[in-house]
Amino acid sequence: MDLKTAIREVPDFPKKGISFKDITTLLKNPKAFRFAVHSLLKRFKDKRIDAVAGIESRGFVLAAPMALKLKIPLILVRKPGKLPAAVKKKTYSLEYGTDAVEIHVDAVSKGMRILLIDDLIATGGTAQAAAELIEELGGEIAGLGFVVELPALGGRKKLAKYRVATLVQYADVE
Ligand code: AMP
Repeated sequence: MDLKTAIREVPDFPKKGISFKDITTLLKNPKAFRFAVHSLLKRFKDKRIDAVAGIESRGFVLAAPMALKLKIPLILVRKPGKLPAAVKKKTYSLEYGTDAVEIHVDAVSKGMRILLIDDLIATGGTAQAAAELIEELGGEIAGLGFVVELPALGGRKKLAKYRVATLVQYADVE
């Protein structure tokens, strides 16, 4: 299946020059959604995975069915201020300014092997921050999975020490 046909490209969103890869059109196509979830799982079939972590918010939508399918825990990596119990936070730099992600400190146990999922990898900054949080809590990264990759932005290089699986690639530079 050609997943690109199920993903909508929205020019100049959220700002001029960005071509937004909108997966809501994939989510409303059950065949494409199922194919994306199953394809990502297939790429990590040989790995021991104890939990699936999703990055807010589109990562949640993909990570949840994967965790259910594998019958293992689902972990949420969220934007600051959303998680109610004790959290660990990681700030990372963007082109302009900074952003941050948080995780509950009791979400990860020592030696837990975690598959980290988001909808898209661009610079890899978000995923790297999430992976570091998991590792600092004693977890191990079994791999990282994304539906969409923007290779020109170098995320895969930033995450070179991990197995990174992506299903479709776009040549965008922004
Ligand atoms: P990055 O940290 O640079 O890898 O950016 C990845 C995060 O930003 C993911 O959570 C994506 O959902 C979002 N993102 C970045 N660029 C795009 C884009 N062109 N289309 C859709 N989402 C994007």
